[in-house]
Amino acid sequence: MENQANAVNRQSCDVLVIGGGPAGTTVAPLLAEQGYRVVLLEKARHPRFHIGESLLPANLPLFERMGVADEIKAIGMEKWGAEFVSPSHDHTMSIQFGEAWDKSMPYAYQVKRAEFDTILLRNAEKKGVEVHECCKARAVDFLPDNAGAIVRAEYQDGRQQEWQARFVVDASGRDTFLANRFQIKHRNPKHNSSAIYGHFSGAWRHEGQAEGNITIFWFEHGWFWFIPMQGDVTSVGMVTWPYYMKTKGQRSIEQFLMDGIAMCPALTERLKNATLVNEVEATGNFSYVSERNHGANYLLLGDAYAFIDPVFSSGVLLAMNNGVIGAEAINTCLRNPAQATAALKRFDDLMKHGPKEFSWFIYRVTNPIMRDFLMHPKNIFRVKEAMISVLAGDIFGKTPIWRSVLTFKVIYYIANIIQPRRAFMGWKRRRFNIRRVDDPAMNGI
Ligand SMILES: Cc1cc2nc3c(=O)[nH]c(=O)nc-3n(C[C@H](O)[C@H](O)[C@H](O)COP(=O)(O)OP(=O)(O)OC[C@H]3O[C@@H](n4cnc5c(N)ncnc54)[C@H](O)[C@@H]3O)c2cc1C
Repeated sequence: MENQANAVNRQSCDVLVIGGGPAGTTVAPLLAEQGYRVVLLEKARHPRFHIGESLLPANLPLFERMGVADEIKAIGMEKWGAEFVSPSHDHTMSIQFGEAWDKSMPYAYQVKRAEFDTILLRNAEKKGVEVHECCKARAVDFLPDNAGAIVRAEYQDGRQQEWQARFVVDASGRDTFLANRFQIKHRNPKHNSSAIYGHFSGAWRHEGQAEGNITIFWFEHGWFWFIPMQGDVTSVGMVTWPYYMKTKGQRSIEQFLMDGIAMCPALTERLKNATLVNEVEATGNFSYVSERNHGANYLLLGDAYAFIDPVFSSGVLLAMNNGVIGAEAINTCLRNPAQATAALKRFDDLMKHGPKEFSWFIYRVTNPIMRDFLMHPKNIFRVKEAMISVLAGDIFGKTPIWRSVLTFKVIYYIANIIQPRRAFMGWKRRRFNIRRVDDPAMNGI
């Protein structure tokens, strides 16, 4: 009798997706459209807050493909370019996405993620995905002989449920559900920053088409983002290094953010008449990668696999792109197992491509020589067009930027060779910035 009372209901499905962010809500409907029974578990109830509000032009073709382009357009603030403000230069620098190599993707959107992710989740439902919100995946057991896995989940009201799935997709974001269980997640030794962020109303914006541009402000201890969104809400975030986080002391994170803003006169000016409208949040030590992104009957997508610094607003694009290539790989594994090895190899190569290309620039973006390059862009050998294409996220298609990207890197290395002292100081500063500082003030961030 007691066993019966405790028995957990078990259902079956083809693919079980953990997480209803951009990665999960892309892979799930693409598989449902191909006739699979897909279940998606989301621990929260949408709409819910999420950081990551600035999108890239290369997102737009994905919205078309998912059938959500009009809905995203309705909630999005058009973002036609990016502006860089450096304390060591007497001018600001703006790039327009319309000047990229491929001129057909001239803008992107800034979005409130609560609205954006809700559109993607409801779209998944419309396409036949069985969505369970307020339902958190708790455990997984992979079965022998390629028989799939059993995933155990718990609803917020305490009900338990199990699914037996042929394939499991971990799209749980920074919770890194599978990577934690397999103990394969490693912090990135080449990068180490944290972010503190909030929403403001009344911030000063540019006029006309430039109103929705993202602005990146460098300051002594890192950089700020300034992301204008619809309805007079502007997201402002400070990305900084562990040694500076250590100086937070007893201050609240809100006070720490405000004190940081005060160190950046150009941003202070933009926020002169602004008011904070939500609770300030923080995310610590955020760059990591997992040892692998797939195994027998499972894939890791988006932030569940790897996270890189958000300076180039690449996270949502990478997560959705992972969803597309993940759906292709799973379809091959389930329909044509003989081709699975080749499909997973291709999946693995594509998964690593985005983080690798963006990371080269991320590691160098605070270097003074690189900053000079960004503040004085020149289009010799079309390097400026190629760089804007990278910033637009146009790195997965056929746009032939790679020779010019390589030329840019070679010019950068030559600039380092002919300015050895500056290069050495930049290298030393970076080593100082990324070193680990174990400090209780960072606990819980
Ligand atoms: C400070 C900061 C700034 C950023 N800025 C940008 C930006 O400007 N532009 C950009 O493109 N990206 C940005 N990003 C990155 C972006 O937020 C992420 O890359 C993106 O959200 C990844 O999507 P995802 O689907 O992989 O994960 P998520 O969007 O995190 O979605 C994962 C989902 O899984 C759910 N979940 C977790 N665990 C479980 C579980 N056990 N069971 C069920 N559900 C679960 C979560 O509730 C969540 O809804 C930023 C990130 C940070 C930290």
